[in-house]
Amino acid sequence: MPITSTNRHVRPLRSQKALVTGASSGIGRAVAVAFGRAGADVAVNYRSSPGAAEAVVAEIRGHGVTAFAHQADVSDEAQVLRMFERLREELGAIDILVANAGLQQDAAIGDMTAAQWNKVLSVNLTGQFLCAREAIREFRRRGLRPEISCSAGKIICMSSVHQEIPWAGHVNYAASKGGVELMMRSLAQEVAPERIRVNAIAPGAIRTPINRAAWETKEAAERLLTLIPYGRIGEPEDVAQAAVWLASDASDYVVGTTLIVDGGMTLYPGFSTNG
Ligand code: NAD
Repeated sequence: MPITSTNRHVRPLRSQKALVTGASSGIGRAVAVAFGRAGADVAVNYRSSPGAAEAVVAEIRGHGVTAFAHQADVSDEAQVLRMFERLREELGAIDILVANAGLQQDAAIGDMTAAQWNKVLSVNLTGQFLCAREAIREFRRRGLRPEISCSAGKIICMSSVHQEIPWAGHVNYAASKGGVELMMRSLAQEVAPERIRVNAIAPGAIRTPINRAAWETKEAAERLLTLIPYGRIGEPEDVAQAAVWLASDASDYVVGTTLIVDGGMTLYPGFSTNG
């Protein structure tokens, strides 16, 4: 079927090829499936759950597109290089990267080990750097394909409201996401002249395995809701819809921006009753 403005609207990522890291669970899973629904072929990166990754692949294929799972630790340069080789072999090109893989290793500052600090920085920040660098090399190799997209490539960095909100007991995580913000904006500035768009999404509290303790019990969920003016915990699909838009030509003039998807968590809800 030729690409027309109508079917681009229905399947806005039609004929595009995407890599989503950390896509066997949570937000990454929802993004990967939404991309398949939007017409993209999707590589599902995972670290340690082949069964869960294959289930995501099966769901994506149900939308009539190509999908495969690839195991790689995004903080390991050799594994990232191998992953991009596989992308070239299986998909021929890549149009979209969602650098989503991330983790927390929480500790009060007096107890935080250097290993916990390094682990979080290496996955959440270095992992995004390595994947973004390889994606940009790929975009350059392939060049602009106007029949596929207005831009030569799109990168979406999964940040967090904690790129802005300080987070006691999580200094490694907050530092990693603060780093993601300036990495994203600097990259965006560097590659925008090549028609490569780099942006980020900063989710608030989204119901996924990473923050199970914050929503699993009624008491924890009630406490969490006091931080969310919109009055509900976010779902992975809320972030997935934002990612589809940011990856599509509908956002073609959006460059170097963080799209906050947080139900108002960054609106200083403590001040809503006059502080
Ligand atoms: P999640 O734990 O379900 O997803 C994280 C994924 O990253 C997992 O599948 C995990 O296996 C994978 N991963 C971890 N280390 C990896 C590595 N070295 N290589 C490859 N994959 C690795 O949690 P989530 O909430 O879906 O998190 C996704 C992203 O969203 C993370 O970057 C997280 O910081 C961010 N985020 C989540 C929330 C939230 O409330 N859930 C809020 C803000 C930001």
